[in-house]
Amino acid sequence: MSAETTLNITCHFCFNQIDVDLEIDQSFEGSDMEIYDCNICCNPNKLKYTVTHGSIINVHVSDGNE
Ligand SMILES: [Zn+2]
Repeated sequence: MSAETTLNITCHFCFNQIDVDLEIDQSFEGSDMEIYDCNICCNPNKLKYTVTHGSIINVHVSDGNE
């Protein structure tokens, strides 16, 4: 079972606040990484996040072009 979580992040490129939808498996524990294109400037944001007990506790946004 998975749940969709909406995160509000600051785009690495244009510094606008954007919403991204993360699909997190309920049993998932640990860190994962996904690329999200900003819906304002279209640049790829690399999102690193850590999940503990079904909650996202740590989000880091960096350059997805690297
Ligand atoms: Zn942007």
